[in-house]
Amino acid sequence: MEYKLVPSICSYCGCGCGVLFEVMDGQLVGTMPLKSHPVSQGKLCIKGWNLHEHVISEERLQTPLLKTNGALQEASWDASIQTTAERFKKIIAEHGPDSVAVLASAKVTNEENYLIQKFTRAVLGTNNVDHCARL
Ligand code: SF4
Repeated sequence: MEYKLVPSICSYCGCGCGVLFEVMDGQLVGTMPLKSHPVSQGKLCIKGWNLHEHVISEERLQTPLLKTNGALQEASWDASIQTTAERFKKIIAEHGPDSVAVLASAKVTNEENYLIQKFTRAVLGTNNVDHCARL
């Protein structure tokens, strides 16, 4: 059995508390507070203590879903990205870049959220980007 602690930052809000992810045999199993972190100093709120749960949840979506004929259906990543790109292009061509918006999530990494805001501003051409951790 291999057990290790991986330091990281809680992504659930702007406080940026320090966490240690507990990894057992390559699987994420828990979250601990990082005592040496200058912001949180070994403390976490209840959201931080449960930071790992969405990753290991059996309810987590494993594939993209596309709405077809009014119902969500599983789709490939290629088809989903293609459809999203086509719909963004059509809406922006007809109504301008501020007619679209992107909602990001605290349940992806900080690095992915950085890319999401960069894509929204630099590619889509709008500042309409938001994130649940802003609350
Ligand atoms: S959600 Fe809680 S643990 Fe996470 S950064 Fe914010 S205050 Fe810290």
